[in-house]
Amino acid sequence: MVTLQNKALDKEIRFDREIGRFGRGTTGPTLIFFGGVHGNEPSGVFALHDLFNDLARIQPDMSGRVIGLAGNMTALAQGRRFIERDLNRLWHREQIHNIQKGKLNGGRTIPDVQEQVSIYDILHHILQTEKGPFYFVDLHTTSAESIPFVTLNDTLRNREFAMRLPVPIILGIEEFLSGPLMSYINELGHIALGFEAGSHDALQSITNHYACSWLVLEAAGLLKREDIPDFQRHYDTLHEQSNDGDHVFEIRFRYHRTEHEHFEMRPGFRNFQEIRSGEWLATNDKGKIYARENGRIFLPLYQKQGEDGYFIIREIHPVWLKVSAFLRRYHFDRLLKYLPGITIDPENPHRFRTRRSIARWHVVDFFHLLGYRRAGTTKQYHYFVRRAYDTEAP
Ligand SMILES: [Zn+2]
Repeated sequence: MVTLQNKALDKEIRFDREIGRFGRGTTGPTLIFFGGVHGNEPSGVFALHDLFNDLARIQPDMSGRVIGLAGNMTALAQGRRFIERDLNRLWHREQIHNIQKGKLNGGRTIPDVQEQVSIYDILHHILQTEKGPFYFVDLHTTSAESIPFVTLNDTLRNREFAMRLPVPIILGIEEFLSGPLMSYINELGHIALGFEAGSHDALQSITNHYACSWLVLEAAGLLKREDIPDFQRHYDTLHEQSNDGDHVFEIRFRYHRTEHEHFEMRPGFRNFQEIRSGEWLATNDKGKIYARENGRIFLPLYQKQGEDGYFIIREIHPVWLKVSAFLRRYHFDRLLKYLPGITIDPENPHRFRTRRSIARWHVVDFFHLLGYRRAGTTKQYHYFVRRAYDTEAP
């Protein structure tokens, strides 16, 4: 059990790993929420606590079930993002393999890894015992002030699901992060989104998480719109804050902050704020850091812990979203191997590689259109792999 207090709301909650569960019958779908995967982001836990209280009181007629899970409970209890390791960067293939083989060695004593193993066990128990389709939503907040938004791995199935929420969507964050929980779940073949509600301490973030959770209950088909009290109010709550509405953005650049780097963002950047190439964004030990290209600043770092200094994002025109859906559905990627400059990786037949010396960004954009993600870059080559379960469930 962990106890959390919210002074502004004069509220105290107590919860276990399973914050709540509601639903009847033996059919799917099953919707799983995570809250507090980062321990300094209690907003999602408060919202889920409210959601399950309300479901118990209202007793709506639900098809399938919803389960709320707490993330890094040790870190939540201490109000820190993590203790030693970021729980949302631990879900890469090698670590999963070690968990499965029981080969965590020294990692076993790290509190965040213990949290991961506990979540891994519960997650796979749910996947084995409950009925699909499975939907996952991970509730987060940001250190900078922000409007609510969704992040996702760019599969068509994720896109379609996310479009049900009236907030901006950011595609392809997994190319820049190693081991987020939702990417791991995506690779298992399930729909998975991150929902960022606003800044860590804003009460509005709890309201946004709560609104999002009701909208997702409808989008996943667990509840009908008319069975949700105040559905329209929840929709409007998110819609009104999203001056960028249904716009979709892609990540162009990530500033990677090294462990001992003294990195400081210039104060006052809001998430999604427009920036110009050459604009002074931050300072580190070596001096000023300037924007590489035009775009919008995304997730500027205003806290001590975290390895992403900031990202630069750019809007994708809706036409390109349609084009990419078309190309993927009709498997245009079968033609890739015939194109100049693109070869199958001799070491891995499921991977393409391109020489970095040929027009860099257009190649990356082209692969993105076809549902590929950049899986690595060396001095000479970019590597690309197709995202699994892009258009169809496993
Ligand atoms: Zn977070």
